[in-house]
Amino acid sequence: IHDITDRRRAEHALRQAYEAEQATVARLTELDEAKDAFIATVSHELRTPLTSLAGYLELLDDAGVDVDPVRHRRMLEAMTRSTARLQNLVEDLLAVNALGAGELPVHAAAVPVRPLIEEAVRAASAQTRSSGHRVEIRTDAGAQTVTADRDLLVRAINALLSNAVKYSPIDTPITVHTSAAGGQVAIAVTDRGVGIDADELPRVFERFYRARYAHEHAVQGVGLGLWLVKTIAEAHGGTIGAVSTPGEGSTFTLSLPAAGPDTAPSVESGPPV
Ligand code: ADP
Repeated sequence: IHDITDRRRAEHALRQAYEAEQATVARLTELDEAKDAFIATVSHELRTPLTSLAGYLELLDDAGVDVDPVRHRRMLEAMTRSTARLQNLVEDLLAVNALGAGELPVHAAAVPVRPLIEEAVRAASAQTRSSGHRVEIRTDAGAQTVTADRDLLVRAINALLSNAVKYSPIDTPITVHTSAAGGQVAIAVTDRGVGIDADELPRVFERFYRARYAHEHAVQGVGLGLWLVKTIAEAHGGTIGAVSTPGEGSTFTLSLPAAGPDTAPSVESGPPV
């Protein structure tokens, strides 16, 4: 009887080990496939703006010095857009690498939100100008200062603006609305765009996830923007959420803890007298 029980136990342990190994293999295969898909997307995202830059450089070279000033300006604008696209992609890739290594240094200080939004809007202006989107900033009354890393926060707002541009028709308005309540400052970016289906909405913050619309319409991007926004929000003790109505538009709300009166940078208050 002992023998039989021992054998059963051994068989059971063996089966468990085998199943665990199968699960690991499946997970590794899945990761490998995700990596292949990611490399394919990134290569495409690098090639498109590079091809455009090379093309315009050749045109400018052919035209020599006699190029019509209006055409010249248009070519330079297109080249600026391609360069910005390459810069954004490289920045995102570098951030992913730093985050993967658990190195997202947050240099936090008390910062008023409005100037950060203005900076993010300026940073997105090459994109918004060419797409004809107007960005309206609305700030509710009340102190709106957060303890945050300026650069990271500008990046997060910029990523939300960039998505609003990519996923809404030209000439539609985009609003950035800030409000403060319950110790939180909320920054909401609203567009009148294509929206996101309910089944896809919970997944848009996942790394590399792109919704059907982005695939079907070959919208530029690699599925890192919202994941970065989420990571930045969480590194600040904040949150990111989205509400969306397909065909009508979306609102992404970034909530951050408000800076209390005692969290102002001590450097500025100086030594006690
Ligand atoms: P990317 O835009 O590079 O695909 P993101 O991580 O920024 O990646 O967004 C993930 C997906 O969420 C996008 O592919 C898109 O389908 C959807 N999405 C993001 N922002 C919006 C928006 N403002 N309106 C509609 N869909 C959006």
